[in-house]
Amino acid sequence: MKPHPRAVEPLLAELERQHLSRRRRTVEDFGDFQGAEVVVDGRRLVNFCGNDYLGLARHPELIAAFRRAAATYGVGSGASHLVSGHGREHERLEEDLARFVGRERALLVSTGYMANLAAVTALVGRGDLLLLDRLSHASLIDAALLSRGRLRRYPHADAAAAERWLTAESAHARVRLVATDGVFSMDGDIAPVAELASAAARHGAWLLVDDAHALGVLGASGRGTLEHLGLAAGAVPLLVGTFGKAFGTFGAFIAGAREVIELIVQRARSYIYTTAAPQALAAATRAALAVTEREPWRRERVLALTERFRRAAHELRLPLVDSPTPIQPVVLGSAQAALEASRRLLERGFWVAAIRPPTVPRHTSRLRITLSAAHTDAEVDALLEALSHCVAARERA
Ligand SMILES: *Cc1c(COP(=O)(O)O)cnc(C)c1O
Repeated sequence: MKPHPRAVEPLLAELERQHLSRRRRTVEDFGDFQGAEVVVDGRRLVNFCGNDYLGLARHPELIAAFRRAAATYGVGSGASHLVSGHGREHERLEEDLARFVGRERALLVSTGYMANLAAVTALVGRGDLLLLDRLSHASLIDAALLSRGRLRRYPHADAAAAERWLTAESAHARVRLVATDGVFSMDGDIAPVAELASAAARHGAWLLVDDAHALGVLGASGRGTLEHLGLAAGAVPLLVGTFGKAFGTFGAFIAGAREVIELIVQRARSYIYTTAAPQALAAATRAALAVTEREPWRRERVLALTERFRRAAHELRLPLVDSPTPIQPVVLGSAQAALEASRRLLERGFWVAAIRPPTVPRHTSRLRITLSAAHTDAEVDALLEALSHCVAARERA
């Protein structure tokens, strides 16, 4: 007897009961197109939960590059990179990226999720040792599970604990890999990359940094967490970056030494068995990289807004976490409290999604507020005013 669709109803009802059910909202329009305004359900909202940190997603130069390349190469690549889908725009973007992050080679991968699967599974196999921060992005956790390596998770940002695992568990592992977000996606804080790099080096372990939320944003020239911390590229053998955040487009890359990237090309199933992204997308991302380098004011602007937000939030005694980046979570605890605050903000014209388990640990549901160079001072001030009403006084520190 085949299962009846209604058999899944209790599962959905249980998510609903726990306030963990997720709902999509359709963006119907973009207010003035360049700003952070969106139209949802016929209402204008200021978007404070996107990752378009530099305001590049609708930049005219990116759009023009996309259009030109689509006219030249079409909209689909037609095959995977290793068959016939790899084109000149892909090649150029890989060269630009390798230069930007100071590595021998960069490899385009369709998404950040798949880039982490590719980098981890190419290196780690059964019996190998893999260490992840407790608050690692879901894609690193899934990569670890898929690799069949022995996974250990160390307390958040605790490099000494990571080193203790390396000491205790290295003996039988052929390969050891430590992987961390550069900037943690739901918390906005920065990983102790220098300490992790020393620990990894002492134990002959690889270190992978997923810099999805720092590239384009941190460091004087936008080169991310390593530049922010004053670290040389050599400290981190594997760097993963994504284009869907600060670069305003879509896709991802892995950068490192020539041999390591070649191993990923040969072995990584999430690289090999998928269609290459359109060349038009690669062209738009190249334009994004050029704008990022040419217009440091975007970085300065989003970090100045971050400062402005934090100063006022502190005065309002909002429960902020210690984040120097445009990711500014307000941790409220229960999923219900986060949903309720999000709903009240929506009524006042602000879109801030409630982030709940399993994206964040239980009892740490939150509003994840993100700032963008596309926001105005007045929008940020108005959000703070709304927050002071929507986050109940008892929730304040
Ligand atoms: C967004 C994100 C990813 C996934 O990137 P996509 O290109 O959206 O698949 C991976 N790692 C981190 C830390 C992220 O924030």
